[in-house]
This record gives sequence, structure tokens and C-alpha cells, in this order.
Amino acid sequence: MDAVSIIAAKRDGQEIPEDAVRDLVLGYATQEVPDYQMSAFLMAGCLRGFSSAETFALTDAMLASGETVDLSALDGPTVDKHSTGGVGDGTTLIVAPLAAELGMQIVKLSGRGLGHTGGTLDKLEAIPGMRTDLSAEELIAQVGRIGLAVCASTADLVPADRAMYALRDVTATVADTALIASSIMSKKLAGGAAFILLDVKVGSGAFMADLDSARELARVCVTLGARAQRATGAMITDMSQPLADMIGNAIEVREAIETLRDQRRGRLLELCLGLVGHLAVLSGVAPDAETGYARAERALQSGAGLERLRRLVEAQGGDPRVIDDPTLLPQPPVICPVRAEQDGWLATVDTQAIGHAAAALGAGRQRKDDVIDPAVGIELPTKIGDRVQRGSNIGCILAGDSDAAGRAARAVLEALSWSEEPVKAPPLIHDVIQPSG
Ligand code: URA
Repeated sequence: MDAVSIIAAKRDGQEIPEDAVRDLVLGYATQEVPDYQMSAFLMAGCLRGFSSAETFALTDAMLASGETVDLSALDGPTVDKHSTGGVGDGTTLIVAPLAAELGMQIVKLSGRGLGHTGGTLDKLEAIPGMRTDLSAEELIAQVGRIGLAVCASTADLVPADRAMYALRDVTATVADTALIASSIMSKKLAGGAAFILLDVKVGSGAFMADLDSARELARVCVTLGARAQRATGAMITDMSQPLADMIGNAIEVREAIETLRDQRRGRLLELCLGLVGHLAVLSGVAPDAETGYARAERALQSGAGLERLRRLVEAQGGDPRVIDDPTLLPQPPVICPVRAEQDGWLATVDTQAIGHAAAALGAGRQRKDDVIDPAVGIELPTKIGDRVQRGSNIGCILAGDSDAAGRAARAVLEALSWSEEPVKAPPLIHDVIQPSG
């Protein structure tokens, strides 16, 4: 392989043949291709774009770089869902138990937070004792026993993506449709689930800032799924503000527990029920999304969803007492209110800035090897369209010390813009894309 010629061809806008893409990606996974050559290729690709054939080749090469999980031993429809990343986006902790209650076998391979986005694994690990590093055998045995597992993809699944994603994060080459789609779908295909639902986020806290690019990302992912004979659907959902009221780790677990106890309603629950409804129809356990939604709501109201979460926590070594007493989750030393500085209706949220403010508190990583503080975060129940009065509480900061709390409160206030006129809440679900093929 001549990496320099491949980079030059990409730079000049030529289409790269499948075998050259494969050699480059596999060469990078085995460290024969150095970071600087892969960086140059990725940047040339971001600037020139990737064709469909190149996107297929990237996905196939990443998948071929590691192992795949064989779920054929499991009875029932095997299901995975994936969010493209957002802020206060803890849907998995609610969707997975409810979907398992409806008879789906949930094999959820999750990631960690990076940059402004949160990650399910960091949230789960806020539960004392909770393990997320299951082996493929443990994963299959647990799903067979309790219907769900939420864990990290193992080191031998898609190692090329692991390496390329870390490189993209530090070379400004994340936000490209082909690179995002091949990164997500190679992991989902390696995870082995027969049914895949993507939650493609759009708005100020998402990789895709506008609806057209979110639709394009969804379409490419759905095509990649169909090509691999996996029924793949997508929902395009709002990330123009944090989805949940809480942004952090322990506090997002608490919010999920309170939601499954039916003590919290709002956009997070609404989206979770919608996701379960669409997963149900995709996997064939319900005739339509409305029936799936209604059954998910019943599973929530009966407490069955909460019990399923307890079983998940227990199965992965976590302290199940947190389900009855979320104060057992890590608590912050400092909690301080954020007060509105004017009267008005909340008009826009710079969601990425809120995510960065939470990360700066210690809820996320500024760099890949930073250690998370599970106790800290931001509570922001005020949503676009809400009216507030000057001096009223619009949220609070959970911090390690009062200086950090003060900085985060300022960052939150700077991320919000206000209107003197009423503002309409943005739609929660913009579009649903059915499986193709
Ligand atoms: N999530 C992924 O897994 N990969 C990307 O490239 C972006 C979001």
C-alpha cells in the first residue's frame, strides 16, 4: 500500500478504490499507518467528501478490523439503539428496561462521553460497583437471563474505529457524514443485534446542526444497515436544548430512576416512550409504534420497568439499593442555584456550551484520559418556551467547590437567550426514517 498516493488521490478529489480504503484502515488499526498519514487522509476526506462506495468501504474495513458478537444463541428479537450524541441524553437507562419488558433482547453497546456530549457508560458507572466491561460471553448470558445488558464494546470489536475516533476528535475531523455513519454503523453491526434504531440528534448540542444534514446522516446509516441485512430505522430528534433536566452522571441516573418511578414527566420521558414504540414496531413485538408506546407506558406505570433496571444494576455488580434510595449515589459538596437575570421566555440554548460547562465541572472529559467526577453536573429544568422572572431559580449547579460552581453558573447564563415575546417549544421528534430494502 502506498499511503501517500491514497492521500494525494483523496486530496485531488478522486474516488479511492475499496481495497485501498481497506488497506489504509486496517494498516492504521495495526499501527503500520502512522497518525499523521491517517490525519491527512481524514482531513482530505472531510474537505472533498466521501462517495457511497467509499462510505461502504470504510464501514466494511472498520468491521473487518476486529471481532463480531454472535447473538444466535438468544431467543427473541435482538435490539440495539444508538444516539449520535447529545447533552442530558440519558435515554438508554429508561429505554432499555422498558424495551426489555416488551419482549426485546437488548444488547446495548454504549460509549463514553467525549467533548460536550455525555456517555452512557460514565452514567452507569456512577452507580457504586457497576461494571460495564462485560466479555462477549457474559453479555450473551446476561441478556439470556434478564433480557438486557448495557456495556462497553470490547477492545476487540472494531479497533480501527476506536483508534480513528480518538484521532478525529483531536484533528477536527469528527463532523463528516460518511465518517460518523461508518463509525456508528461498524460498531452496531459488530454488536450483532438484528434490529437497530438510531436516534439522530439535530440542533445546537448535536454533531448535525441542521435538519438536512441529520436526515442525510440517518439515510446513510439506514442504508449501511440494510446492506448488512439488519433492519435499521432512525428517528431524528431535537437537541436544540438539553433533553433531560439533568446533565451529569449520578444526577442523570437519579432522573432515570425517578422517571421509571413515574415521578417525572417531560421531554425525556416522551422521547423514551417514542423510541420504545418505534423499537417495538421495528423488531416486530408490536403492530405499530402507537401500540408499542402505550405498552411502554403501562410497563412504566406498573413499576415493571423500574424492576428491570434494578435487575440490570444487580446483574452488572451495581448496588441495587440506589433504585429505592438515589441518595446513595455520589453527592456533590456544593449545590448552588442559577437565577434568571431578566424577565422573559427562554428562546435559545447553546447546548454545546452547556455540555462544555458540565464537562468543565468534571462531569465529562476535556481530554480522553481525564477522570470523571460522578457527583457533579447541571440541573436545568427550564426549557425553550418557559417563562421566567428576574431573580427566579432556573436551575442549579452541583460542583466540587464554589469557584467551579460560580464559573458553571455564569457559563449556563451565557448559553441562554431570552425573548420578550412568547416562544414556541421546538418539536421533539422531527422525523422517523423506516428501514429500507
Ligand atoms: N458517535 C460515534 O460513534 N462515532 C462518530 O463518529 C460520532 C458519534
